[in-house]
Amino acid sequence: MDYIDLRSDTVTKPTPEMREAMATAEVGDDVYGDDPTVNKLQAKAAEMLGKEASLFVPSGTMGNLIAIMAHCARGEEVVCGDRSHIYMNEAGGMSALGGAYPHAIPNQKDGTLRLEDIRNAIQPDDQHRAVTRLVCIENTQNVCGGIPLTVEYTKQVGELAKEYGLKFHIDGARIFNAAAALDVDVKALVAPADSVMFCLSKGLASPVGSMIAGTRGFIAKAFRLRKMLGGGMRQAGALAAAGLVSLEKMTGRLKQDHARAKKLFEALKQVPGLRVEAKPSSNMVYFKLEEAIRLTEDQVVEEMKKRGVLVDWSAPREFRLVTHYWVDDAGVEKTTAAMREVLAQGG
Ligand SMILES: *Cc1c(COP(=O)(O)O)cnc(C)c1O
Repeated sequence: MDYIDLRSDTVTKPTPEMREAMATAEVGDDVYGDDPTVNKLQAKAAEMLGKEASLFVPSGTMGNLIAIMAHCARGEEVVCGDRSHIYMNEAGGMSALGGAYPHAIPNQKDGTLRLEDIRNAIQPDDQHRAVTRLVCIENTQNVCGGIPLTVEYTKQVGELAKEYGLKFHIDGARIFNAAAALDVDVKALVAPADSVMFCLSKGLASPVGSMIAGTRGFIAKAFRLRKMLGGGMRQAGALAAAGLVSLEKMTGRLKQDHARAKKLFEALKQVPGLRVEAKPSSNMVYFKLEEAIRLTEDQVVEEMKKRGVLVDWSAPREFRLVTHYWVDDAGVEKTTAAMREVLAQGG
């Protein structure tokens, strides 16, 4: 069956244009810096982000870890959100592999960290305390609803970091979604940061890969760390070719995914048995099952699958649906109709 797959934007398969570019890519040994397609991708990403240099890495998780390790010595603290990917969903890598110590503070409903909370988390210069080295924000903030953080807010965090001599990293797995949602140039969103990571493999539809960007000095450190962590790839140009299509063709179309998320939101609001409250601000639609619905989360997943729609739950009674390149208007309609049928039977 051809499923409508709304579990995540990570499920996006490469577009026909990507497959063509991958098949014909010029390649070389990227550990030697010899792969022309990787080099082109890195130059293009740096230019689009307004940073001096960038590096192609196998995953967003590795990109974030490399950035943390480049900025922090062992035992140093990272101020981050308690609902951030870096804190919740990277298997504790910053501690296990980087020796860095997370200092989590609450993510607010709007995805931000309060500036006061960041300030209070910064350790005083005292022999008893760890050294605070880095502050991280996530844009869009995934678990808070795919919320974009504004240029103004990012500037404020940057100024605060500077005031205390801290480094500033943005987990921008979906930074191009944030730029599209806010209708700003992505450069403005990352300008205050020392480093940024974004994923090619999510809404930008590449099969594999993420980019990290920053100063030349940062990227030189990152290059060595990537090798240390086992992320040095050889003829990676076959993958980078898809990444170039992501940057050239896919960044400009994310607004379509956001418009479809709004459409899905409006349609699901009409379905009895669902509480659909937060209007999506990017490509994610969150909703809850009402008390009256006696189906478990897994039963909803199973019943939807029988009707050709793949969904996933994100918390007890809560689902997250993500729109992307492979979800069209017919997919939105099919999803809504399937949900209506499933809940009508299970109420
Ligand atoms: C997906 C994601 C990552 C990690 O990317 P992977 O390529 O899956 O390792 C990091 N941060 C956020 C916010 C993400 O959504």
